[in-house]
Amino acid sequence: MSIAKAFRKLVSCVLLDLDGTLLNTDGIVNDALKVYLVKYGKQWDGRGTQRIIGKTPYEAAAVIVEDYKLPITANELLSEINPILSDKWCNIKAQPGANRLINHLREHGVPMALASNSSKENIETKISCHPGWKESFSVIIGGNEVTCPKPSPEIYLEAAKRLKMDASSCLVIEDSMPGVTAGKAAGMEVVAVPTIPKQSHLFTSADEVINSLLDLQLEKWGLPAFEDWIEGTLPIEPWYIGGPVIKGFGRGSKVLGIPTANLSTESFSALELPSGVYFGWAGLANRGIYKMEPWLLHDFNEDFYGEDLRLVVVGYIRAEANFSSIESLVAKIHEDRKIAENALELPSYLKYRDDPYLNTSLQLNC
Ligand SMILES: [Mg+2]
Repeated sequence: MSIAKAFRKLVSCVLLDLDGTLLNTDGIVNDALKVYLVKYGKQWDGRGTQRIIGKTPYEAAAVIVEDYKLPITANELLSEINPILSDKWCNIKAQPGANRLINHLREHGVPMALASNSSKENIETKISCHPGWKESFSVIIGGNEVTCPKPSPEIYLEAAKRLKMDASSCLVIEDSMPGVTAGKAAGMEVVAVPTIPKQSHLFTSADEVINSLLDLQLEKWGLPAFEDWIEGTLPIEPWYIGGPVIKGFGRGSKVLGIPTANLSTESFSALELPSGVYFGWAGLANRGIYKMEPWLLHDFNEDFYGEDLRLVVVGYIRAEANFSSIESLVAKIHEDRKIAENALELPSYLKYRDDPYLNTSLQLNC
């Protein structure tokens, strides 16, 4: 972190983008495009996602018409795909940490605005499916209410004006480059939470880039800190996954000297949680129930490929990080292990050891 960025400006309100930031809209849009493009003999491969993120619906439609050489106009595409999408607006899941953020800011009386390139009508429909969201925002402003959408600063300046705040008192949280550009052009502090993983390097104009809303540290901006971290861990809604143990990439045991057990990602959505280091409890048929961090916290004498492994993931430690050496990576993994081992003794995490999903017939062996 540069010295300049270590001394951040303090803010008193938060301006939030909607699609991709608070809602996982891309999944729904991708699914709709996959079905829709078949009509024109085309196949949506997801590569265009980067080009439409943060755009207005019309701009995104124009990009798709051009990229896929469709024999229709952007407006025609919109009128055809809108009925497909509007049926699905209520299926859009909140991004991990979105409810936590909104509730926290509301409880602490921090003014919030929602500023999206979507139309006001679409915004209202999307957030109506998430209890408590609409009432939490003092201002909701759609792309159809300003002359120029993001990346123009207009929508954020208008949001600040309606909140009766100076632009310099506003923190913007955004997932796309047009949004980050808009926030910076408005003279605001901007935290980027890129929708597409591993894109942090493209967001150099943001004041901070984080992996997910779970990593947001509001106190850095003079706002009330989250109070739900316990001994270096963040409790999450339990996530149940399982399947046969498969062979991994070999790095765990061969390079790091740390044996790993891998699950196929085919049977569950990897998007349920952002990438990062989590921990919880693991049940292995015929073997027992063990603490689990990036790997099972137990030494086994032999491989167990093909055996049924069930996990209840209950807490988060940190985002993925890059390490300058294997030694520093191994040291960090052991640090993570210590945090997870200690945390799993806390009552709020320990109770999941008895979760029936882990197989009640297993002999407890912790
Ligand atoms: Mg967005």
